[in-house]
Amino acid sequence: MHPSRRPIIGGNWKMNTDRASGAALARQVAAGAAAMGQAAPDTVVFPPFVYLDSVAAALAGSPVQLGAQDVYQADHGAFTGEVSPPMLRDVGCRWVLVGHSERRHVLHEGDDLINAKLLAVLRAGLHAVLCVGEKLEQRLTGQTDTINERQARSALRHVEPQDLWRVVIAYEPVWAIGTGKTATPADAQAAHAHIRAVLADLYSPHAAAAARIQYGGSVTPANAHELLAQPDIDGALVGGASLKPADFLAILAAAGAGKA
Ligand code: PEP
Repeated sequence: MHPSRRPIIGGNWKMNTDRASGAALARQVAAGAAAMGQAAPDTVVFPPFVYLDSVAAALAGSPVQLGAQDVYQADHGAFTGEVSPPMLRDVGCRWVLVGHSERRHVLHEGDDLINAKLLAVLRAGLHAVLCVGEKLEQRLTGQTDTINERQARSALRHVEPQDLWRVVIAYEPVWAIGTGKTATPADAQAAHAHIRAVLADLYSPHAAAAARIQYGGSVTPANAHELLAQPDIDGALVGGASLKPADFLAILAAAGAGKA
């Protein structure tokens, strides 16, 4: 992490927890983050849609922020089953995940849809965590930077320079998500540096230097320190370990320590 950028840790709960366990988890994270005081990184939890309200209540008064795992790109209308950016804002969300690899590869979301979702999130005044990342065969055939660049450039189409600060990019190699495999700190750093160079080309070196880029993919307390010590890694997006309060709080502490 670079001292000029505030670290940010996200907890993506995916399709896990129930109402009671989600609220309990949120309370534990809130208490742990509050106990860290100024040393706490920016912290966001992303519960399932149906528990946003109860998790918002559990987080009331805490520095931990609320995010949604997905969104629809229209504000209202005949879109059965979908949830809009204003609805997310209404229940207390500040953040939205856009383009998570499970949405790209399990739910088949394409670059144009991800771009539309990102623009809708920003239009609503929300903040986004935009996920990019290569599949294993793409890494093995040397396409990591090409894939990340394509995903970042297409998702950021029509995103104005003054809105870029509300976008955090999460580099998440698909083969590392939920698998227990992690990119080496050097490989992750190289991918982050390339993404930052893409931002410099798209916007400006100044905007790129200010942008926050998280790493995601089997982050645990055991590997967080080394990953977060890399100069272009500004935080982590955490899946499995975010469901275990002690592990998630240890990752927050690693980010706080890295900042010092
Ligand atoms: C994720 O859901 O974005 C993720 C990185 O999951 P995990 O930490 O379980 O690999």
